[in-house]
Amino acid sequence: MDGMNGNAPGDGAPQIDLYGILGVSKTASKNEIKKAYHKAAMKNHPDKVAPEDREESEQRFKAAGQAYEILFDDQKRAMYDQHGMAAFEGGGPGAGDVNMEDILNMFGMGGGIPGMGGAFGGMGGGRQRARKSPDENQKYEVSLEDLYKGKTVKFSSTKQVLCSKCSGSGGKDGAKAQQCATCKGQGVRQVVSQVGPMLTQRVVPCGACEGTGEIWDAKDKCKKCKGKKTTEEKKQLELYIPPGSKEGDQIRLEGEADQVPGTESTGDIVFHLVELPDDNFQRTGNDLSAKLDVTLAEALFGFNRVVIKHLDGRGIEMTHPYEDGKVLRPQDVIKIPGEGMPIKRSEAKGDLYLIVEVEFPEDGFFTDPATIESMKKMLPGPAPAIEADVVDPVEYEEADIEDIGGEEGRGQWEDEEEARVLNARHSRVVEYGLWETRI
Ligand SMILES: [Zn+2]
Ligand SMILES: [Zn+2]
Repeated sequence: MDGMNGNAPGDGAPQIDLYGILGVSKTASKNEIKKAYHKAAMKNHPDKVAPEDREESEQRFKAAGQAYEILFDDQKRAMYDQHGMAAFEGGGPGAGDVNMEDILNMFGMGGGIPGMGGAFGGMGGGRQRARKSPDENQKYEVSLEDLYKGKTVKFSSTKQVLCSKCSGSGGKDGAKAQQCATCKGQGVRQVVSQVGPMLTQRVVPCGACEGTGEIWDAKDKCKKCKGKKTTEEKKQLELYIPPGSKEGDQIRLEGEADQVPGTESTGDIVFHLVELPDDNFQRTGNDLSAKLDVTLAEALFGFNRVVIKHLDGRGIEMTHPYEDGKVLRPQDVIKIPGEGMPIKRSEAKGDLYLIVEVEFPEDGFFTDPATIESMKKMLPGPAPAIEADVVDPVEYEEADIEDIGGEEGRGQWEDEEEARVLNARHSRVVEYGLWETRI
C-alpha cells in the first residue's frame, strides 16, 4: 500500500513531537526509548523537585509518560508514525495517566510488561517494526469457584485469515489495484468531531475501499475473498484459567486475533478476567472470608460440626471450643490458616476467616416461667445499678440504625469541607472494616 509509511499526518492535526519529548531520534530502539523515559521520569518525578517547580515538572513527567506509552508499544508507535497524535482519540491514550506498572518495571521491580508480548518483546535493541495486527480484548466472567479450582474453557472462534487463493493481495495473479482516491491509499480517513467546546480528530476506516486503500476492477478481484484479502475461518481454542487467578488478570492467546493484510504478525486475543461475586465467600487478595452462624447454645457451650461447604465442595469441620470455656461472641473472627484462595504458580494458599454471627432464640421461645427463672439464675446477672438523683421511666419503640439523625442529620454538615472530611473518615472506617482490624 503506497503512502502507508509516508510521514504525512493529516492537515491541521495537532503536532506533538513524542520523540522530541523524550529527546530520542525517530529511529531510536525500544531500549533507548526506555532509558530516555527512565531518565525523564527520575528527573521530573513530582516527589523529587522543589515545590515551586512541581507543577511544571509534573507536566513534563506526564508528557514523558505518554510519549513512552506510545513509543514503547510497537503498534501505537506505528500508528503515531503514520498519523501523528490524531491516531489517538482525544489527544492521547489515557491522557494524564501514568502506568504504575511501567514505572515499577523501569526501576526493575516489576515482571514482564503486560501487553508487550512477554519479556522478550523488542528488548533486544535495534529498531523493530513489528506491525502487529491489533489485539482483541474481551471480558471473561468467572465464578469464585472456578477461580479457586481453575478452569479450562473450550470455545470456537471465527477469525479473519489472509485469503489462501490470493495470499492476501485481493486480486487475481498479476492484476493491479487502483489506489483509493477517497483516502489516497491510506485506508483510513481523519474526521473532525466536536465534543463540547473541543474539536477532536479521529481516524476512521475509509468506507470507499473498506479500509484496504485499494479499489479493484470487478474482473481483477480475487474470486474467493472478492477483493477483501481475508476470509473467515473457524477455529477451536482453549482458554486455561489457573487456580488463584483474580479480577483483572489477562490471559493471552497469542496470534489468535484477526489477521490483517500488510502486517507482519498477528495480534493476540486477550481475555480480561472479571470475578463474579459469590453468595457465601468474599475474597480479599488471597484470603477468603465467610459468615459463621452459630446458635446461642453453640456460642456458649461449643460444637463439633461442618460449618461451611468450601468452594471445591469439601465440608470444613470445626470443633469449638478450641480452649476450655472460650465463648464465641458476635463479630468474633476465626482464622483457618491455608484455607483461602490458591496462590498462582505455587502450592501455597491464603487463609480463611470466619466472622461469627450468633443466632439468638426467636421471640417467645421461652414460655415456661420455671425455665425462665432457672435460666436467669444460670446466666450472669446485670451490672451494678446506676445511681442517679432523678430517674425518669420512659417508653420506647423499635428503630433502625439509619434513623439516627433523621432529616436533620442530612442537612447538618453545611460546611462542605467539614462534610468532606467526615465522609473521608467514614469511608476509611468502612474500607478497613471491623474484622480486618481485629486480626
Ligand atoms: Zn483472495
Ligand atoms: Zn479508501
